[in-house]
Amino acid sequence: MSDTEQYTAEELQSVLYDIMTECINGRTDGHRCPFCKEGTMACTVEEDVSVRMECPQCGKYFDARLG
Ligand SMILES: [Zn+2]
Repeated sequence: MSDTEQYTAEELQSVLYDIMTECINGRTDGHRCPFCKEGTMACTVEEDVSVRMECPQCGKYFDARLG
């Protein structure tokens, strides 16, 4: 099972930031999980600035806050 080794920390942050930005702009569907590349992230936007991304496939989740 692949892990995050294929990304540097900076690359991963960049990928997650792109997803987070799209979620805040209303596109919460269809984001491929950057960890396993198989699941589709379930994204929830809270208070218009906070995004929670969770992958039902590999179970990884990530919370991000804009600004
Ligand atoms: Zn995943």
